[in-house]
Amino acid sequence: SKGKGRNRFQFYAKEMNVSFAEKLSLENLLRKALERNEFIVYYQPQVLTHANTITGMEALIRWRSPLHGMLSPDDFIPIAEETGLIVPIGEFVLRSACKQAKIWEKMNLHPLRVAVNISSQQIEQPNFVDYISELLQEFDLPGHVLELEITEGTILRDINMTNDKLVKLSKLGVRIALDDFGTGYSSLGYIKKFPINTIKIDRCFVHDLPGNPNNSSIVTALCSMADGLKLELIAEGVEKEEQMNFLRTLKCGEIQGFLFSKPLPVEEATKLLVNERST
Ligand code: C2E
Ligand code: CA
Ligand code: CA
Ligand code: CA
Repeated sequence: SKGKGRNRFQFYAKEMNVSFAEKLSLENLLRKALERNEFIVYYQPQVLTHANTITGMEALIRWRSPLHGMLSPDDFIPIAEETGLIVPIGEFVLRSACKQAKIWEKMNLHPLRVAVNISSQQIEQPNFVDYISELLQEFDLPGHVLELEITEGTILRDINMTNDKLVKLSKLGVRIALDDFGTGYSSLGYIKKFPINTIKIDRCFVHDLPGNPNNSSIVTALCSMADGLKLELIAEGVEKEEQMNFLRTLKCGEIQGFLFSKPLPVEEATKLLVNERST
């Protein structure tokens, strides 16, 4: 049944202690899903806090499995990372997002940025920078249309290698966002050593704003430091008007969350952009 299939993946994602045979079969399922085009990309708007204008769309992968129904990335990304399949899967997302950015540009819906989550294994590929550069050329896109979302964990795995590649990507105009900020160990001062444009404040600091005094202090401090360091800010997981208002008073530039929109299939995301233009 659907439920059972889903549990199997969730169990794997949580426990990681399945047998070698089970792992092999999950890997085969993922490989087949890729061949059969079962992965799709949803898009969630990133919005200016002071104007409700959409500035970007984050690409978020889904697996539409004929056997297990719609699976969320948390159910299969861990397996993809463990098996190395995250590289071709990640390339699929990058390619889809660039292709879509071009379609939106041709519809005159620009200026619009697409943001794509990147795993450490992708950055570690020797040809990662060339891959991105060729993708931009293929779709005739300026680098600044693409924002790559990486985590502190990715930077810290191999600081020199990552910095080298981020510098090269920045020279192409590609934007770099630091995802899930605050959940790791780095300070903003340290992060500023890397060519990063945007900080994404993790949902765990946002969900109980402004009621939680600790998180209110943390987010207030982050906003004022980001301002001083000339970093752009996006707050994740904004669900309520009061969170939005609080972030607006802190001059947090952008928000992303269910308050404005959930991640949407591409047709619905496009409708949102078309409606916005005509109002
Ligand atoms: P993330 O990068 O932190 O993405 C934000 C997640 O928060 C998304 O979950 C999004 O649907 C969810 N979200 C957005 N706004 C709200 C809100 O207001 N409330 C709540 N409760 N949740 C909200 P999703 O799509 O399930 O993705 C989960 C994670 O999977 C992502 O977290 C990202 O780390 C990873 N992921 C998604 N797509 C990709 C991909 O193409 N490649 C890689 N490597 N990872 C991906
Ligand atoms: Ca992200
Ligand atoms: Ca997050
Ligand atoms: Ca993440």
